[in-house]
Amino acid sequence: MIPFRDTYRDIPLYSPAKKPCRVDLSDNTNLFGAPPSADRVLREEGFLRLARYPAGYAPDLKRAVARYADVAVENVTTGCGSDDVIDCALRAFLEPGDVVAFPDPTFVMVPLFARLSALKPVPVPLRAGSDLDLDLDVEGLLATGAKLIYVCTPNNPTGTVASRAAVERLVDRAPGVVLIDQAYVEFARGGDFLDLARTRPNVLVTRTMSKAFGLAGLRVGWGVGSPSLVAEVEKARGPYKHTTLGEAVAVSALTEDVAWMEACAAEAVENRERLRGGLKALGLEPLPSEGNFLLVPVPEARRVGESLRERNVNVRVFEGLTGVGDALRIGCGPWPMMASALK
Ligand code: PMP
Repeated sequence: MIPFRDTYRDIPLYSPAKKPCRVDLSDNTNLFGAPPSADRVLREEGFLRLARYPAGYAPDLKRAVARYADVAVENVTTGCGSDDVIDCALRAFLEPGDVVAFPDPTFVMVPLFARLSALKPVPVPLRAGSDLDLDLDVEGLLATGAKLIYVCTPNNPTGTVASRAAVERLVDRAPGVVLIDQAYVEFARGGDFLDLARTRPNVLVTRTMSKAFGLAGLRVGWGVGSPSLVAEVEKARGPYKHTTLGEAVAVSALTEDVAWMEACAAEAVENRERLRGGLKALGLEPLPSEGNFLLVPVPEARRVGESLRERNVNVRVFEGLTGVGDALRIGCGPWPMMASALK
């Protein structure tokens, strides 16, 4: 078992309107905490770096990402979280009034960023397959004519994955860019699309340091695509997207903490399946997730979420999700933390 430092003990939830909860399973972060090398970098180098600017366009971080993802530096862009890479990509490839298409339900920031840039968000429902599985409606996405199609796999909030066949069909036929958000890929059985980002000129894969790597507070994300695609995204971003400390810690994590990250991800997945068993025993039917979380359809999710919060447990409540209805999304981490939430 991975030892974890319970960073949730004294830190109030990011949403000040809510009462802090003892067990916060709401944001799909690495509940084992931050990677070991972060401690050293912050203690030994943190203060020294504060007075100067970081280098523009994060060359150290890009080199570390390129090594980790096995691509050239020219294939890499970075941002203040992968949120920011997505936001920059929308602005890089679309003009105000243009359509951005995405499966529904998916990551809520996409329609938000679209609207902030005066784009037209067009949701296309995920298709229900067998056994609660959900896959992309490729024809529906293509029919929007969008010059940028966003796909998230494993998908937030469902946890379901897009099939390779569907993604390849989409990439083959899309009139513009296909952005594949893989914020949770470290938890998945395969389903990594970096190979498409390396070989197809219209694919941008985004990844994050916020989930498996345990660095959500640093705000570091990255994207991989062809050099010309990446150059377009870089034109839509400013040079100073990272703090000196954020860049240094992300570099050390990508270089020294990969085995730690993989061990955390494996344990989160094991505990996710253990939680699934517990929920099924209660008569619930979580969706088949390949993320570090489960989406559990429950009637009156808001009321259930509120009663959990009364018991000091925070989970994410969704109401009226397309094709799912009301549901709770429950993040998975160390078993003692999960078990205390189940009590
Ligand atoms: N994509 C997905 C699917 C997410 O769930 C999140 C975080 N909730 C992000 C991207 C953004 O993560 P970050 O900006 O922290 O990299």
